[in-house]
Amino acid sequence: MKEDYYDILGISKGASDAEIKKAYRKMALKYHPDKNPDNTEAEEKFKKAAEAYEVLSDADKKARYDQFGHQAFEGGAGGGFGGGGMNMDDIFSQFGDIFGGGGFGGGGFSGFGGGGRQRVVKGSNLRIRVTLSLEDIAKGVEKKIKVKRKIKAPGTTYKTCGTCGGSGQVTRVTNTILGRMQTASPCQTCGGSGQTIDKKPADADAHGLKVSDETVTVKIPAGVVDGMQLKVTGKGNDAPGNGIAGDLLVAIQEEEHPTLKREGDNLHYDMYVSLPDAVLGNSKEIDTVTGKVRIKIEPGVQSGKILRLRGKGIPSINGYGGGDLLVHVNVWTPKTLNKKQKAFFESMKDDEHFEPKPESSDKSFFEKVKDMFS
Ligand SMILES: [Zn+2]
Repeated sequence: MKEDYYDILGISKGASDAEIKKAYRKMALKYHPDKNPDNTEAEEKFKKAAEAYEVLSDADKKARYDQFGHQAFEGGAGGGFGGGGMNMDDIFSQFGDIFGGGGFGGGGFSGFGGGGRQRVVKGSNLRIRVTLSLEDIAKGVEKKIKVKRKIKAPGTTYKTCGTCGGSGQVTRVTNTILGRMQTASPCQTCGGSGQTIDKKPADADAHGLKVSDETVTVKIPAGVVDGMQLKVTGKGNDAPGNGIAGDLLVAIQEEEHPTLKREGDNLHYDMYVSLPDAVLGNSKEIDTVTGKVRIKIEPGVQSGKILRLRGKGIPSINGYGGGDLLVHVNVWTPKTLNKKQKAFFESMKDDEHFEPKPESSDKSFFEKVKDMFS
């Protein structure tokens, strides 16, 4: 009795496409032959999961299976799956994408450009993190980044792969539920490149590559955001033979600023004002991403007031406009007083002039909007 496809993947009959894919991915990773070398039981489970997924991920086949069960695919000349099941190469070539990189052939190369006969082998991507200050982010910056990338070792020569004759693919005939089919899978000998090493220098690896220290200049535009990834094409690892280099992926990390807080393209600054300055007015230097600026404190300014400095935020990444700097006024109240100071405030205590009489202009527009919603 053949095992139910839903049971194999551990899902219920009503599972969504996403759930089916997720379940298969989990099984495939668990029983992946790389993780379970020489474990025939794991290999069997890996194959079964692939077979179940092959059917359940295809709307037509799934409908037939739901209606007729395994009988839907039996009775044909070849016996469909009933015979040998799927072989490992088919699983990898059909479902390679589910493993993330789709890399075959080892060495971290990934194929792309599908459809054509000759596979172009692309070198693996390099990832690097760059930490930027808000000041750098505000004006854009050019960073020189040291990378260790694999390059074609000088002196390496290649020859046409004897296994695939240079096509990068091997074709085999398989029995599928649709009948006999010709399937092409990447050549294991050359990893799909169609070439193998002829001669290589002693310092080159098995693919004719060697590690090189290089400095790559990365132009970082103004307005980048923490977590954003920039791609420098062709600055990843080289691929052997006539393959092309992978990319350098630069992840942006924003350094915390000592006084400015970023929120989208806007910046916030907490300005502390002394009691006398709040009453009498003054001016004060504050930080911006383009240096210090002096701003005026009007006599009678209130705590909670927000002063908006237009255009002093972070420029928009798309090149148009940008954010503002919002300066939050905090009137600082002393926690301790000496005798004289205490006497001074006590003498003011009963003066009606100091009774709070808030006006709407004491709060910024945004504060009022916030009040409306909270
Ligand atoms: Zn080959």
